[in-house]
Amino acid sequence: MRDKLKIGFFYKEELNLYGDNGNIEALVYRASRRNIQVEVMEIDTETKMNSSNFTDINFIFMGGGPDSAQKNIYKDLISNKKEYLRDYIEAGGVSLFVCGAFQLMGKYYLSSDNSTLEGLNIFSLYTKHYGPKKPRCIGNTAGEISGRITQDPVFKNINRLDNYLVGFENHGGRTYLEDKEHLLSNVIKGHGNNSEDNTEGCIHLNSIGTYYHGPLLAKNPHLSDYLLAKALNTDTLEVLEDVLENKAHTASLKLKE
Ligand code: GLN
Repeated sequence: MRDKLKIGFFYKEELNLYGDNGNIEALVYRASRRNIQVEVMEIDTETKMNSSNFTDINFIFMGGGPDSAQKNIYKDLISNKKEYLRDYIEAGGVSLFVCGAFQLMGKYYLSSDNSTLEGLNIFSLYTKHYGPKKPRCIGNTAGEISGRITQDPVFKNINRLDNYLVGFENHGGRTYLEDKEHLLSNVIKGHGNNSEDNTEGCIHLNSIGTYYHGPLLAKNPHLSDYLLAKALNTDTLEVLEDVLENKAHTASLKLKE
């Protein structure tokens, strides 16, 4: 078991749509409540990834943003961060990419002005924005978590709630998985990846991508603890009394789309 959570927090200022930075707060809170040592390293477009500072990061987070924000970080992401992220993810590193960040982990993002942002090509997917004539995917969301997670003994041991995720979505891009088996959840409420194939998000090794803002981890304490356990390489965590979190989660399940 790793005794410290060290978070690599990418593009805090640019990619923080709908309170996505709250995912970091939720994770820090849940680790601190368990007296687990936590360090948050903010990584921005000026950060050079060559120092040994980054070798012991065990959780990476990148949030969502409008097309303009994605373009603001794009050059740095592709030129300076790509190799680090690829090596980290392919080595089984735990990470969470929300919406705009999720899109850029794929092969490409054809954005709203018809320009193409080549992605990091780590997740086997692509995203197309069909422009202003196609309505955005906006609203409350819910999904049934993939068996890739619910059948993981770590999740089975950690989970004190249910097998669902709740959140909020606002995206124009439609994401298509090369292999639908890699979905994060099956859509119960909302548009999911593309309003067509009932998939939401993506799982690749120990990294997940999702359209769920919320912030996701505050409303889904079971997913937070699962990612925390994976980051610490443990299958047990001290049980927290999640009365408020569970109420927020369960109430969100009942919200209309
Ligand atoms: N700009 C992207 C889109 O519109 C991502 C939006 C987001 O991160 N909420 O699809």
